[in-house]
Amino acid sequence: MREQLISDYLRSMPSPACAYLYDLRHLQERSQRLRGALPPQCKLFYAIKANSDAPILDTLRHNLDGFEVASLGEIEKVRATDHKTPIVFGGPGKTDAELEGALKHSVMLIHVESEHQLRRLNWIAGRRRQAARVLLRLNPAALPGETRATLRMGGQATQFGIDEAQMPEMIALSQNLPNIRLEGLHIHALSNNLDAADHLALVRHYLELAQAWERRYGIRFSWLNAGGGIGINYADPATQFAWDGFCEGLHALLEQYRPGFKLIFECGRYISADCGCYVAEVIDIKTTHGKNFAILRGGSHHFRLPSSWQHNHPFTVFDRESWHYPFPRPGLTDADVTVCGELCTPKDTLARDVRVARLRAGDCLVFSLAGAYGWHISHHDFLSHPHPDRRYFNG
Ligand SMILES: *Cc1c(COP(=O)(O)O)cnc(C)c1O
Repeated sequence: MREQLISDYLRSMPSPACAYLYDLRHLQERSQRLRGALPPQCKLFYAIKANSDAPILDTLRHNLDGFEVASLGEIEKVRATDHKTPIVFGGPGKTDAELEGALKHSVMLIHVESEHQLRRLNWIAGRRRQAARVLLRLNPAALPGETRATLRMGGQATQFGIDEAQMPEMIALSQNLPNIRLEGLHIHALSNNLDAADHLALVRHYLELAQAWERRYGIRFSWLNAGGGIGINYADPATQFAWDGFCEGLHALLEQYRPGFKLIFECGRYISADCGCYVAEVIDIKTTHGKNFAILRGGSHHFRLPSSWQHNHPFTVFDRESWHYPFPRPGLTDADVTVCGELCTPKDTLARDVRVARLRAGDCLVFSLAGAYGWHISHHDFLSHPHPDRRYFNG
């Protein structure tokens, strides 16, 4: 995200500033670079739940291989920007209407998460005289090594996917149902993994599982979807997932295993986090029980990620010099501050005890890495404050 863009915006904005700023050129360059480093046998999809705004989808559809969606609403959002971009469709609770909608909108692959879902899909596809192309979503028995991630969806009891022990029956059933075309496996087992070597070990494990089942059932998969889950380092923004090293490792892995299928990566956070920031003006500064607090125009109703993940979200201070009140300006120098929003709940905290060189009422905080799971996971109308200004630049 370009600094200049943020400072130009803030210079032109009246007080109190509160906004999401998104840089589409940055998103375009980033997505091209990420996709360009992958081996040709790998496809990069974007999981749109991270940020499904039309300008984001419109930028990414030209630069990636397709979109991952998890509801009929998301299918419709993708189809509103384009009628032929490849879509893969996941989610544990797909309704009949959603399965029907997926077939109607020519979704490329449906990720099936249970036996009942598979039978319903077969039944609906039969009624429509259509074949459904399917990946079975696997919940693996175990994940290799000690994979460090913020959330786990597989390798343990969760609502996601099909237990590894039940896969043989599910593969057999997929082959027997007349309107199902089994095209491979889908495995999305974790979120926010920061370690490229760990992630490579995960992909190796998935490759081995897929090839073992191909041999055992005498089938040929067309696809292995290895999920998303590549992380963003919020604690230390200068040190991020080693994408180029990961891609080099993938090249070597594909040389070694020579799979007959293509691989999909369906990343959300890793693609769009860095294209957006959340900016909020400091309305007040005070000290209670010995701790300093900065109160923002804004907060977790716009940007729920830090309270949801209970992390300190990285920010920088943008100085604003104008001060129009005829009394002194509250401020801190070289002090720790806890940054809170305008809501009437102590959960509305975006960062705790962070050192600042100087912070004054009227300055703005710029929270970086807010382009994914920011606005889109937040409870916008709790307390009925005005929404932030949301701007897309360089479209
Ligand atoms: C949310 C989700 C993703 C994207 O996850 P990120 O952690 O943002 O990369 C990919 N696949 C599935 C099935 C998901 O639910």
